[in-house]
Amino acid sequence: MKLSGWGRYPQADCAVITPRRATELGGMLPEGRLIARGMGRAYGDSALNIAATIDMTRLNRLLSFDKSTGLLVAEAGVPLSDIIDVFLPQGFFPPVTPGTKHVSLGGMIAADVHGKNHHNAGTVGNFIDWLDLLGPSGQIVRCSRNENSDLFEHSIGGMGLTGVILRAAIRLKSVESCWINQKTIACANLDELFQEFETYDNSTYSVAWVDCLSSGAGVGRSLLYVGEHAVTDDLPQRLQSQPLKPPARRRLSVPFNLPSFTLNRYSVKLFNQLYFHKGQRAGEGSSGWELVDYDSYFYPLDSILHWNRIYGRRGFLQFQTVLPLAQSRDGIRALLATTATAGQGSFLSVLKKFGAQQSAFSFPMEGYTLTLDFPARRGTLALIDKLTEIAIAHGGRFYLAKDARLTHSELMTSDKRAAEFKNFRQKHKLDERFASLQSERLGL
Ligand SMILES: Cc1cc2nc3c(=O)[nH]c(=O)nc-3n(C[C@H](O)[C@H](O)[C@H](O)COP(=O)(O)OP(=O)(O)OC[C@H]3O[C@@H](n4cnc5c(N)ncnc54)[C@H](O)[C@@H]3O)c2cc1C
Repeated sequence: MKLSGWGRYPQADCAVITPRRATELGGMLPEGRLIARGMGRAYGDSALNIAATIDMTRLNRLLSFDKSTGLLVAEAGVPLSDIIDVFLPQGFFPPVTPGTKHVSLGGMIAADVHGKNHHNAGTVGNFIDWLDLLGPSGQIVRCSRNENSDLFEHSIGGMGLTGVILRAAIRLKSVESCWINQKTIACANLDELFQEFETYDNSTYSVAWVDCLSSGAGVGRSLLYVGEHAVTDDLPQRLQSQPLKPPARRRLSVPFNLPSFTLNRYSVKLFNQLYFHKGQRAGEGSSGWELVDYDSYFYPLDSILHWNRIYGRRGFLQFQTVLPLAQSRDGIRALLATTATAGQGSFLSVLKKFGAQQSAFSFPMEGYTLTLDFPARRGTLALIDKLTEIAIAHGGRFYLAKDARLTHSELMTSDKRAAEFKNFRQKHKLDERFASLQSERLGL
């Protein structure tokens, strides 16, 4: 079956195995190396193995829930959207969420995803109590911070390279409503944006959209969105009787691949102008705060089905780096200036602040993370090479869930933990059993 990640680059013909029960999986596995796959929302080739890709989406049962602690036990293939649909009406929300809810629990753990609250909550791994992992010889191992802790630490953010996660226990957080109090702050340039990130450091959520084609004194022109869970008293009277009931939503769809010229320097520039001014006006309201439903705040892109088709048939690449705090300002400025000069418009350019992070191989570190995406066309790889070089020169590292092109030497230079992760795999013979196109490319 032809498979790809969300960026639809690269694509590969993969033999796919789809277990329906965790107990049958051990018996279904072929000899040789394999990789687990959730909902395919990683952008590149991390969930692709030509010989054996294990589609986990049928292992999608919710197994138990303790309302007094928020502890949910679920199979790894359960989509985050199911978790929200079932538990938000009961007053529980994921403690950390990526920018789409169409991800699986296993995929979230394997990438150790971060959300708009990383600066105060860290990654999803902080909220995983234990997981059951299918090891190299088909044995199931329970691991947690107290039991097989080394395996636990390496599996969170291990990109499926330590085994197949079968089920996990995640602590959900309690919320009073499905609404978010959002404030939009328009920033004329990068200095203003960094200043506002500091000002709003105590906010639960923060994320900035950056106009990556703005240049000169306007480099980093942006909209910072901060958010807080609304309590019942924050809601207008008409919503107070059902604070956990989200409004009905209409979903649009991109029905086919748009021609690759649709996204060009001019169309993205126009989009960015309109988007910035709309955000600026929203921020000028009485106090700048407005009430938005959780879907609009956390998952704006999910309202457009197949939005990855706007990049055309050849797909697109995403670039995400994190730079240490001290080097963020200079590094991000250089990355944005290079992008603006190249004129390769990325209209999904996002900047977030990360807090401190201790982990074996997860992506975040304290600093700022920049995400850019580019249609896969002539010149894109050369531009991403250049951005990678700039990021490395500023002490940056790269998010494997977004990557489709990093080289072995770029990985080893940018992330000293990669050598230890590789040794761990070799020591436990995990490298003989678990591999993706990405891990082969990166020599892991
Ligand atoms: C629109 C969009 C927004 C996003 N926003 C964010 C964001 O804000 N923050 C963030 O951190 N990420 C973000 N992501 C990336 C996404 O959260 C991760 O790539 C996540 O891993 C996808 O989950 P999945 O179920 O689709 O996994 P897949 O894409 O199928 O797989 C991703 C990795 O997880 C491994 N894996 C999957 N299931 C298992 C399992 N059961 N056992 C072992 N390994 C497994 C795979 O081998 C692979 O290495 C975003 C992606 C999209 C498309």
